[in-house]
Amino acid sequence: MRIKKEGNYMYKVMAVNAGSSSLKYKLFEMPEEKVLCSGVADRIGHEDGIFVIKYDGKKVEETLPILDHTRGVELVLQALTKYGIVKSLDEIKCVGHRVVQGGKYFSHSAEFDADTEDKIDMLTPLDPLHAQAHLLGYRAFKAAMPNVPAIAVFDTAFHQTMEPEDYLYPIPFEYTEKYDVRRYGAHGTSHNYLANKGVKDYGAKRIISCHIGSGSSLCAIADGKCVATSMGLTPLGGVMMGTRTGDMDPSVMDYLATCTGKDVHELYNIFNKKSGFLGMTGISNDTRDIEDAVHKGNERAIVASKVFARRIADTIGSYFVRLGGADLIIFSAGIGENAPYFRKLILDDIKEALGLVIDYEANEKARGIEMVISKPESKIKVVVIPTDEEVMIARDCYTRIVNGRI
Ligand code: AMP
Repeated sequence: MRIKKEGNYMYKVMAVNAGSSSLKYKLFEMPEEKVLCSGVADRIGHEDGIFVIKYDGKKVEETLPILDHTRGVELVLQALTKYGIVKSLDEIKCVGHRVVQGGKYFSHSAEFDADTEDKIDMLTPLDPLHAQAHLLGYRAFKAAMPNVPAIAVFDTAFHQTMEPEDYLYPIPFEYTEKYDVRRYGAHGTSHNYLANKGVKDYGAKRIISCHIGSGSSLCAIADGKCVATSMGLTPLGGVMMGTRTGDMDPSVMDYLATCTGKDVHELYNIFNKKSGFLGMTGISNDTRDIEDAVHKGNERAIVASKVFARRIADTIGSYFVRLGGADLIIFSAGIGENAPYFRKLILDDIKEALGLVIDYEANEKARGIEMVISKPESKIKVVVIPTDEEVMIARDCYTRIVNGRI
């Protein structure tokens, strides 16, 4: 059933983000973009899985076995009717899945059919951490709701507008051609959301968006389109992160293999999961713990924080040059939205060169809310904007429904 309101048809669409051990979901009423419920099936694969649903200002959390993604999806769908969020599952008209790696195949979202499934499967070597989990999430929804169309929204798609000089690596060209080795970037759905906001709400033509969370990437955006981004072939590249190295001299791999006797795969795993803040400090990958340690005078936490800020500051500087200036710098994601301490470290590194005048009081206040944190006389406006990847997925679903493309 569809309900007509103010000339538009209203539809319920589900945005899904399936990871290897969690499945996050958000149900929207479109086109209002009203969130009807959200939550997560977490610790998938464990006897003590955690299921969370938030709706109507309430939150229900249960601990129970969630042995696979199929069970996770069952719990989500049962909860929707159990808590009266929908009367029948038929009300859901489309399920949109976040997919990290779309490789060379996808410069836009795509209907999630057998061909899309095959391509995502083929791209697994480029995203071993997420690709199969996305497919598990898709298959579990497909099994539970076989007649509901699904779409795949790719993190890499937004970055497909980069020019070759921005995405090619200087390796033998046969590797680029034969194995599709190049910069793909990630977090594109988030950068796209931030680009839209920057253009629409701030009238910005040249935007540097900083998606800084447990994974971090920056994006240079001209007239709403990506021209450069910091993540590379995989989400390991770019700036330092919670557990990831970001960019390093590639010879570190060979040298450490010689020193430690570990093979490339072991070291790759260490660079992905045991480096970044966690590796440098031995304390945590979470910047809240790092900040506590800094305040207690922990030397390694202090230097790790400076490395983190310096890498981001350097990237902002290079994007300023790449864009021929900048109108807007956006901070977003877990750290960018919530951590004044880290924003200040970054901004203090770039303010002199870029003519920024920071409103430090606003920076302290901006926690999880949209807020300008520069003063009017600043040459570039600096703003905190909470990102919303799910609403981008929901918008994509809705546009496809009204255009009859699914
Ligand atoms: P995300 O991947 O965007 O969900 O970001 C998660 C990360 O954001 C966490 O691992 C923390 O490092 C960081 N974070 C979240 N909340 C805060 C906070 N209040 N203060 C400092 N860092 C935070």
